[in-house]
Amino acid sequence: MTIPELFSLQQQYFAASRTKDINIRKENLKTLKKALNDHRLDIYKAFKDDLNKSEFEVDASELSMCIMEIDYFLKHLKSLSKRKKVGTNLLNFPSKNHLYYEPYGVALVIAPWNYPLQLALVPAIGALAAGNTVILKPSEYAPKVAEVLSVISDYFEDGLFSVVTGGIKENQELLDLPFDYIFFTGSTNVGRIVMEKASHHLTPLTLELGGKSPCVVTATADLDIAAHRITWAKFLNAGQTCVAVDYVYVDKKVKDQLIKKIIAEIRKGYFDDDVLSKDFVHVVNEKQLNRLLGLIDQSKVVFGGKNDGLYLEPTVIDNVAFDDKIMQEEIFGPLLPIVEYDNFYDAVEIIRKMDRPLASYIFSSDKKEITYFEENVAAGSLGINDCIMMLTNHHLPFGGIGKAGFNSYHGKYSFRIFSHEKAVYEKGRIEVQTKYPPYTEKKLKMLHSITKIGKK
Ligand code: NAD
Repeated sequence: MTIPELFSLQQQYFAASRTKDINIRKENLKTLKKALNDHRLDIYKAFKDDLNKSEFEVDASELSMCIMEIDYFLKHLKSLSKRKKVGTNLLNFPSKNHLYYEPYGVALVIAPWNYPLQLALVPAIGALAAGNTVILKPSEYAPKVAEVLSVISDYFEDGLFSVVTGGIKENQELLDLPFDYIFFTGSTNVGRIVMEKASHHLTPLTLELGGKSPCVVTATADLDIAAHRITWAKFLNAGQTCVAVDYVYVDKKVKDQLIKKIIAEIRKGYFDDDVLSKDFVHVVNEKQLNRLLGLIDQSKVVFGGKNDGLYLEPTVIDNVAFDDKIMQEEIFGPLLPIVEYDNFYDAVEIIRKMDRPLASYIFSSDKKEITYFEENVAAGSLGINDCIMMLTNHHLPFGGIGKAGFNSYHGKYSFRIFSHEKAVYEKGRIEVQTKYPPYTEKKLKMLHSITKIGKK
């Protein structure tokens, strides 16, 4: 079947109202859960091949996210989809008003390679829960996981949930179609292309993009905790995480201590004697590896810096300045630059001058510093004394700001972006006649009194 034919099939499926019923939507989500469980072993194998991801990391950062999201909707879908009564105002009194959650129609989900299962399925789960049909386009750079996603889509009726594999050509073909919603996760550059394409059909969209997420460590921080958590957040998935700590920005009084502790954490977590752990994720491909190697200034490396094929060691780079090459782009790999500052408030000013990141982090035990950081550093999300974990909490929206993207998802936020909130207004027989002609002086006075025109 060609891509336009598949799209038309999905349009027909949606038009037949087969996604309207909440119970059917729940059954669809259960089908997805079953497919994931049936193919668990294939999923582990695919991750090993594509990224050398261990079973533990697949469970912790991929499967669990999908299963928790499905379970959330199985529990909350009914209440989320209920018509929500809202009040009225004087102009419309008396009337009844409510919100009706209407699915958009056919949704396109374009996913990246770094968390190729959860970044494909978590948005798709939200779209299906909200009653859309979904065409999913996984990344060509995680081809084995894309194959499993394709097998999973076979569990669904034709036209409800489909997977299109392939590369940029297929993406472009998809983006030429008049989808009803587009959800894109990937780089800021491709995000621009997607938004431009969406504008041709005025398709609403969500962009989940990247950026350089800073991690500030102040002189008041608990350095053991900071080193432990930063090391995990940087080297999880070999740093190929959109909300990874991009760089550490640390008070120079505690910098040397922090670096020592981070190196100790790296040795403990990722090395057996001097051998890199067999569980360490590799860089996705040679192109990315060469890009990363080009960012390393060997004269500043204090730990790591070597690679064996696609396996790039966890690397710590000291004395980094903002005009160094590594600070000009999102790193997206296992390289941790350390930048020092003299004064916390000046450091915040410098961060504020940079592009607004997907996440920002602060390690501090001073309430004043934390509040100042919260109030002055704009970012998609903020982690205080921890990193990354906020995105596992479905009570919090997950999304970017500025060049890191817009709109948020997870849990009820996913339901919201994939549903149009239709405003429903119902008038009874009685009404005040003010708005109808002829326009008299008395009516004008009444209008002014209701709307407060001319009043302070
Ligand atoms: P990418 O932008 O290169 O690719 C993402 C998707 O876009 C892929 O499916 C790819 O096939 C497609 N694509 C690539 N070039 C295209 C083009 N010219 N036209 C149409 N489609 C095209 O991103 P990536 O390398 O897969 O992922 C890394 C980036 O994604 C990083 O910047 C990272 O920060 C970001 N990211 C963001 C989040 C988030 O939730 N905000 C999550 C993961 C990754």
